[in-house]
Amino acid sequence: MVFDPMSHGKLYLLGDAAHIVPPMSAKGIHLALHDAEVFARAVIRHATEGDSRLLDTYSETCLPHIWNYQAFATWITDTMHNAGSALPEGDFKKRIARAELQRQFASESANKLFSELTAGTN
Ligand SMILES: Cc1cc2nc3c(=O)[nH]c(=O)nc-3n(C[C@H](O)[C@H](O)[C@H](O)COP(=O)(O)OP(=O)(O)OC[C@H]3O[C@@H](n4cnc5c(N)ncnc54)[C@H](O)[C@@H]3O)c2cc1C
Repeated sequence: MVFDPMSHGKLYLLGDAAHIVPPMSAKGIHLALHDAEVFARAVIRHATEGDSRLLDTYSETCLPHIWNYQAFATWITDTMHNAGSALPEGDFKKRIARAELQRQFASESANKLFSELTAGTN
């Protein structure tokens, strides 16, 4: 779930109040801290310089980062957990998941991207 925009008037949503990510990849705290840093910088700018532009763009600054990690968390959760059910598509999903995971070992590029997303630097 993601609230877009993450603010309304003088109300600003940060962390889990603004977005819930799937559990795999442990991005909840990372995203909450990212929101807090963007928001803190915006409040300091507003308080010290009377410049509200960072507050006005808080939501659009945070959301691309959030959706990037929503996509990663959704992908890895599906790959690790939503594969191999008894439904007709179960075996197909299991094979897709294995191919996805195998790619992490076989491809340096895939491994590099995975590392960046895991570390939160992407
Ligand atoms: C079981 C579990 C395991 C998790 N494991 C991981 C993990 O390994 N890695 C990871 O990155 N994320 C993990 N998460 C997600 C992570 O905990 C959250 O994404 C993160 O804590 C969000 O931070 P937050 O500050 O937005 O919210 P919270 O940490 O929930 O902080 C909100 C605070 O507000 C307080 N509060 C609520 N209502 C009021 C009120 N009316 N007045 C005053 N205070 C109030 C609450 O008591 C709480 O202290 C896990 C979550 C769960 C439930």
